[in-house]
Amino acid sequence: MPPTIRFLGAAGTVTGSRFLIESGEKRLLIDCGLFQGPRELRQRNWEPMPIEPSTFDAVVLTHGHIDHCGYLPRIVKRGFSGPVYGTPATAGLLGIMLPDSAHLQEEEARYRNKKGYTKHKPALPLYTKEDARETLGLVRTAPYQKPFSPVPGFEVTLHPSGHILGAVFVEVNVEGRRIVVSGDIGGYDRIVMGPPAPLPPDVDYVLVESTYGGRSQEHRPVQDQLEEHIAPALARGGVVVIPAFAVGRTTLILYHLRQLMEKGRLPDVPVFVDSPMATDAVELYCKFGDEHNLRVDLLKSASCPIVTPQIKLIRKVEESKELNHLRGPAVIVSASGMATGGRVVHHLKNRLPHRDNLVLLVGYQAMGTRGRRILDGADDVRIFGRDVPIRAEVASIRGLSAHGDADDIMRWLGTARRPPRKTFLVHGEEDGLKAMAKRVKDELGWKFAVPRYLESVELS
Ligand SMILES: [Zn+2]
Repeated sequence: MPPTIRFLGAAGTVTGSRFLIESGEKRLLIDCGLFQGPRELRQRNWEPMPIEPSTFDAVVLTHGHIDHCGYLPRIVKRGFSGPVYGTPATAGLLGIMLPDSAHLQEEEARYRNKKGYTKHKPALPLYTKEDARETLGLVRTAPYQKPFSPVPGFEVTLHPSGHILGAVFVEVNVEGRRIVVSGDIGGYDRIVMGPPAPLPPDVDYVLVESTYGGRSQEHRPVQDQLEEHIAPALARGGVVVIPAFAVGRTTLILYHLRQLMEKGRLPDVPVFVDSPMATDAVELYCKFGDEHNLRVDLLKSASCPIVTPQIKLIRKVEESKELNHLRGPAVIVSASGMATGGRVVHHLKNRLPHRDNLVLLVGYQAMGTRGRRILDGADDVRIFGRDVPIRAEVASIRGLSAHGDADDIMRWLGTARRPPRKTFLVHGEEDGLKAMAKRVKDELGWKFAVPRYLESVELS
């Protein structure tokens, strides 16, 4: 029997990245992500996996985003006890992301029990902080671009993918087949992360992400956009609130703000990073300074390439509460990115009702989120059971995504020396997958497939 690959997630959708490669009795799982977004998808996190996770021999991760690693504590709870491999930076991110995710799961269960929104009594969390701790005990690190064997018969190599700190695409060699799982691919000529490494020669099968399959991310320079919105708000003494995803996005914003201040395009005002997770993540970017580009620009002036005298990292709740009395001009960067939770919700409640302030949205705002309602120009938004009037200026900017656009992905695929036997399009919504399929067919002339959820394919 040839090896098989099973698409246990991120098939026909963006989240829940999980791909199981089986060879004989051995099973290697690439990524173990949480399904996120609409209820039907999140429900899949509760369904038993079609193959008992206790029979998996090892897991290899592409990176530390929750839709790629956030299901790990659940499989550990269900009996998985093998090693989990990632780069050292990914291991560092797991230490931040998994306990936080467990905390959110526990909060949600508590909320459901309090409100009675549950069919199960009592509602239980998908996993607990204890499960997350146990998972972290299974994590092993693997270096970039050095083959290792997580399971007998499998040789794995991790190649930088340019997406976020520690992110890789995974090359698996098994029974003479060479398979590449892209994870999330970054762009070329980016400020923080370097470009993705080229595909290894003679790849037989590629699983490629299609998040932005249909889109080119053309936009004006990010610093021009930031200056245009932030400078007037600071000039009128306002507080600028930037909801931002804790990992990656916050670092990038800090970089741009610092550059703008150094060039005199923005005044030197205090910048508060009010998110313990973002603070931890920023510190990790400092710790792994040689894995991204910021050191080149900034190392000369600080031991950490990101944290500067203007930037104040806030951890304690009391310090966060003190920010309620802060007078402008100042900037507060806080998670979550779509204002669905986290400390940014408090800041929005406090700052939205006043005209001088600016709320600047810097990432994708999904339907049904507070961020989306604010972006769409609503007069008010519900926060902690109260309708908070929106009088502050609201603006959004583009161009800060850690994903490459369709052109970047095509450029990366173009580094293959010969066409793979087959390319599997994963990690995309319907539109993105269709658009990507068309480009792979028309521009590369490659054979491709769009696998269905739970489909199993023989790599013959
Ligand atoms: Zn990602």
